[in-house]
Amino acid sequence: MPLISSTEMLQTARRDQYAIAAFNVHTLEMLQAVVEAAVETESPLIIQTTVGTVNHLGPDYIAHAAKTAADLTDIPIVLHLDHCTDFSTIIRCIRAGYTSVMIDASMYPFEENVNLTRKVMEVAQASGVNVEAELGKVGGVEDDIVVEEQHASLADPEDCVQFVERTGVTTLAPAIGTAHGIYKGQPNIDFERIETIADRVSVPLVLHGGSGIPAEQIHRAVALGMSKVNIATELRIAFSEAIKDVFVIHPEENDPRKYMAPAKEAVKRLAMEKIRLCGSTGKAGVVR
Ligand SMILES: [Zn+2]
Repeated sequence: MPLISSTEMLQTARRDQYAIAAFNVHTLEMLQAVVEAAVETESPLIIQTTVGTVNHLGPDYIAHAAKTAADLTDIPIVLHLDHCTDFSTIIRCIRAGYTSVMIDASMYPFEENVNLTRKVMEVAQASGVNVEAELGKVGGVEDDIVVEEQHASLADPEDCVQFVERTGVTTLAPAIGTAHGIYKGQPNIDFERIETIADRVSVPLVLHGGSGIPAEQIHRAVALGMSKVNIATELRIAFSEAIKDVFVIHPEENDPRKYMAPAKEAVKRLAMEKIRLCGSTGKAGVVR
């Protein structure tokens, strides 16, 4: 089947109180690994790339690889652009075949965030592409976007209501205390805020900074209305550590297949674990 938009996939997840794990990939092997994980667990899948990866590999290579995955399997697959701050990259990715995009204008004042998100919505809707936007500021490091802890801020529930009404955005990422990267201590998630926002806003909500959040906290956030959980850092670490392990034992290795195979396997194992954690196992047929 072709790549699909995530709008309906996430609305179904929200209605049935599970989440879709969205995996950031950087290489063909990582993409194949998360696809295999979703096939084996019969889960819907969101593959996502940051702007850095779009610039590194080119949107066409990424989109073609994702389309091939969708063609070769019968699970619903979305290709999403993560944290994009500029309009022209969004257009490039939609043209290449991305079926979902995030406009991150969270660094601007509220009105500017509304205007930019509306502008993206107009273009995306015409192409049947889902749009995610951020309110408040998620802390940490995500590619080139660095938000120092003291500049991170939580989303205001009333702002969320106004924002969704005025932009018509189909997916919302409210900052609720998670951060990008690996947590130094325990994440400080404001569950009450998730509940209040989910109560007042009907669009699916997105949990950013999903790497390293304890299982019971993910379950709680999903039960309260988080319908997409982003996993980036943990996958990168699993991939890289598996490669490093090969070189510890075989420093002379120079066949990429020899060190990419265990790295792919490590990503697949972790992705399967995250899919189970999100509760989307066996849900492929619900969206299909
Ligand atoms: Zn994020």
